[in-house]
Amino acid sequence: MRLLDSIAELLAPTRCAGCELPGSLICARCESELPRIAAAQACPRCGAPFGALVCTECWATEYAFEAALVLGELDAALARAVVLHKDAGERRLGRVLGTLLAERTASDWPAWPDAVTWVPATRAAVARRGFDHAHALAAPIAEAHGVPLLPLLVRRAARDQRALGRTARAENAGGTFTAPGDVPARVLIVDDVFTTGATLDAAASTLLQAGASDVRVAAVARAW
Ligand SMILES: [Zn+2]
Ligand SMILES: [Zn+2]
Repeated sequence: MRLLDSIAELLAPTRCAGCELPGSLICARCESELPRIAAAQACPRCGAPFGALVCTECWATEYAFEAALVLGELDAALARAVVLHKDAGERRLGRVLGTLLAERTASDWPAWPDAVTWVPATRAAVARRGFDHAHALAAPIAEAHGVPLLPLLVRRAARDQRALGRTARAENAGGTFTAPGDVPARVLIVDDVFTTGATLDAAASTLLQAGASDVRVAAVARAW
């Protein structure tokens, strides 16, 4: 262990995100008890654990992405881990959670994609937290697939609608993201929580408009 790590460990011992047992970021017991959603139980479109059939929600919703994969349900342990990572300064959890998610994506989608990207947080959130949390989750996934991690998505600045004319208003509301660079054909977008899928849907449709042909999404947790 590096000296700085040892000092940090003395000041604030590493504790399990699930049960606070000291020693590791997620202890073996909590890791084995994470509320994982098995591929055999998950809706192939949105990752919801209602059986390996397209779920009723997806009958009514046309997502731009081809498929979604989530590690587990956003219950106590995963919710704690996600919040500790994002808002409580436990940045090392990004690698732990990203690696767990990568085990799923790499086994379900072998030899896929061409690149991994992430849903960028707002500029204000990055400034407040000091990092972009979904980027941290995406890094070990790109490594596991052996493909580049690319910053393909840029979040549009939310401009004050009142100051804009009618055309500009329509444009301002037109998209949350832009994709200013070259976009590979097959892209995996990573985020922390999949709730309605609206943000991931907007991100996927931006990449499809920018030239991607097969966009899938992966998230640590599925919430309702
Ligand atoms: Zn634990
Ligand atoms: Zn579904």
